[in-house]
Amino acid sequence: MNAFHKNIPDKTFETLNHQGEFTRLAVSPGIINKHYTPTQFQKIAEIVGEKGAIKYSASYSILLSIPSSELTEAMHALQEAGLFVAPSGSSHIAMKACDFCDGEKMEAVPQTEQLYHALDGITVPARVRVNVNGCASACYNPTFDDIGLVYQHESFDVYLGAIPMGAKAQAGTLFAKRVGVHHIEGFLLQIIRLYQEQARSNEPFYKFYRRTKSNDDWEQVKKLID
Ligand code: SF4
Repeated sequence: MNAFHKNIPDKTFETLNHQGEFTRLAVSPGIINKHYTPTQFQKIAEIVGEKGAIKYSASYSILLSIPSSELTEAMHALQEAGLFVAPSGSSHIAMKACDFCDGEKMEAVPQTEQLYHALDGITVPARVRVNVNGCASACYNPTFDDIGLVYQHESFDVYLGAIPMGAKAQAGTLFAKRVGVHHIEGFLLQIIRLYQEQARSNEPFYKFYRRTKSNDDWEQVKKLID
């Protein structure tokens, strides 16, 4: 019965928040790598200790709840252990990717890394999730993120407009096909710029895209790849 009623955690993120100041961190071995080492798991256990909580999430990361007073020290220790701590906050661009077949299919990795650096630190009206997948199998569901990129033959297909969750969840639609690897960064930055300049306050990306997609501005973005 471990799957159900005998398996209720003593401490949850919710109960810890009621007890005092706790901060949530999203930790992973990297944007591409999905394998933790035993040492990294030990480090996570050591940092969370008896005070905090650990749970897995739907975003390819493990979530930690730790006392806010220990945040700086914990982040330093996690990074020292080779772990990636995703930036928190609701106004940044969250990048994720498939595991490129456990590193066997690395063709699109240089562009993925380049995009990560290009998008890092950009602020947006509401969090934008960008999901890069390394081939047409698209097995990490990029079409269910705000901006889905599927690599094929030196280019990316770009999907926009997904409703990522809720009763009306829906995949995004193909916005542009075969955006060359040398154009993809500028292409994405133009999409982000439109969102920054024209979205309403806190308007989610999918609502913004669906509201404005017949505007000429989107056609201008597509012309970047002509
Ligand atoms: S999307 Fe393609 S490259 Fe990425 S993990 Fe799946 S099969 Fe491998």
